Amino acid sequence: MARYLGPQCRLCRREGEKLFLKGIRCETTKCAITKRKYPPGQLAWGRGKLSKYGVQFREKQKTKRFYGILERQFKNYYLKAERQKGNTGEDLLIMLERRLDNVVHLILFASSRKNARQLIRHGHITVNNKRVNIPSYLVKAGDVIRPNTSDASQNIVKSNIELVKSRNTPAWVDLKLDVPEGVVTQLPTREDISIPVQEQLIVELYSK
Ligand code: SF4
Repeated sequence: MARYLGPQCRLCRREGEKLFLKGIRCETTKCAITKRKYPPGQLAWGRGKLSKYGVQFREKQKTKRFYGILERQFKNYYLKAERQKGNTGEDLLIMLERRLDNVVHLILFASSRKNARQLIRHGHITVNNKRVNIPSYLVKAGDVIRPNTSDASQNIVKSNIELVKSRNTPAWVDLKLDVPEGVVTQLPTREDISIPVQEQLIVELYSK
């Protein structure tokens, strides 16, 4: 699968916001956004006010980068959300929030979404006692997420929890850090989603 291999902090600086792509470093004073809150590149200072299209485009880029997915897959999520009956922008965000890599990150089993994807791909995570190695798996109400029973998986997840245990956890997952396990009690709503994005702008961009 294609993926972005360049510097992660550059993406945050481009969007002008913390996207929390590097785990624990993002919460320290080493965060590049804290030190250099201006866009990367030599022409950064010369860029004027964004056009309407530019604003819509940046909201889309920010959302893609926050969840760590590429254009084609993002467009597919949009098309799927468009076919649903509700509000397209909200449905899009809810679908992204339900991705297993995002949930594994939110319930503290991994320090970042990238780290969560790696854990899942390497078979360290189970859903309903079955190993799931697909980061894009969409969790449903009632799903039980645990590390694999092997010592290696348990140790990796427990040490990650130790690293990031001061973070907030999602209200829609019942989390027992001592087991460790997360039970999805209900699907997330728009209010549960922390990304600072105006999803309507993404809908407007794709509706052109
Ligand atoms: Fe973004 Fe984290 Fe880098 Fe800060 S440290 S710029 S939040 S990836």
